[in-house]
Amino acid sequence: MITGSCLCRGIRFEVSAELGMVGQCHCEDCRKANGSAFAVNAPVPRESFRFVCGEELLVRYLSSPGKERCFCSRCGSPVFSVFFERDPGTLRLRLGTLDADPGARPVVHGWVSDRASWERLPDDGLPRFATGDPKSLMPRVKLRAEDPGSQGAQSLIAELDAELSKVYPPDAMFGLHGDDHEEGRMVFLVARVRDRPVACGALRTLDAKMGEVKRMYVVPDLRGEGISRRILSAIETIAIGKRHEVLRLETGSRQQAAQSLYRSAGYQEIPRYGEYVNGAFSVCFEKKL
Ligand SMILES: [Zn+2]
Ligand SMILES: [Zn+2]
Repeated sequence: MITGSCLCRGIRFEVSAELGMVGQCHCEDCRKANGSAFAVNAPVPRESFRFVCGEELLVRYLSSPGKERCFCSRCGSPVFSVFFERDPGTLRLRLGTLDADPGARPVVHGWVSDRASWERLPDDGLPRFATGDPKSLMPRVKLRAEDPGSQGAQSLIAELDAELSKVYPPDAMFGLHGDDHEEGRMVFLVARVRDRPVACGALRTLDAKMGEVKRMYVVPDLRGEGISRRILSAIETIAIGKRHEVLRLETGSRQQAAQSLYRSAGYQEIPRYGEYVNGAFSVCFEKKL
């Protein structure tokens, strides 16, 4: 359990999850909000965060559209920020408020182009990005095929199923077919940042000319950063290598972000097919390769 508190100790909190990717943000907003050269922030799931006391002291400031910075009204300590429209389930914790060593270490400098003129960047070997531009994360995302039974793959699949089960009944969820991997009908891709598994997707062979995209998932704190697009394009490349001419996929009627990803990548909606014919929540797409 990670614990933290503000300067006056009026606010105390606990976090039951591990920290996401720790970043040092040098943007002007973080500098002003913290009165320091940079803020050290890490995402945590909102449901893992609990106030021990002092929730009534927390106030929110809308620092930019869709983003609130939350701090103690008595002592001013920044506690977390939240993108309440884009990613309301994630809090970006300010690590300076933690009471003990959380174990995680910063892995990236963001917004270095915005840093204070007097700041001397440390020579710590960490990647430095001019902006918070998500695309700059991409060189650090490593993609490779893994056994779907691997620990990383299994943890991503479990997160995906947990997320789907919040919005769909069990019979509207279509997972992998157990024997596909053993019989060579499936390639399962896992994306990692350093060792952390952050995203997955699979290609399943339907027949000689047709493949199917399955199990696309990106961890919540890294969404909107182009990782799913990269996995999709890797799947297409593999499908072309297998001489497939068409890729199909099924997604859910409530997966709006997924549907726009597929449309923008050239997929067109088709009637429900195969095992999804009677899927009340199924929306199916197809792309000619
Ligand atoms: Zn306080
Ligand atoms: Zn910042």
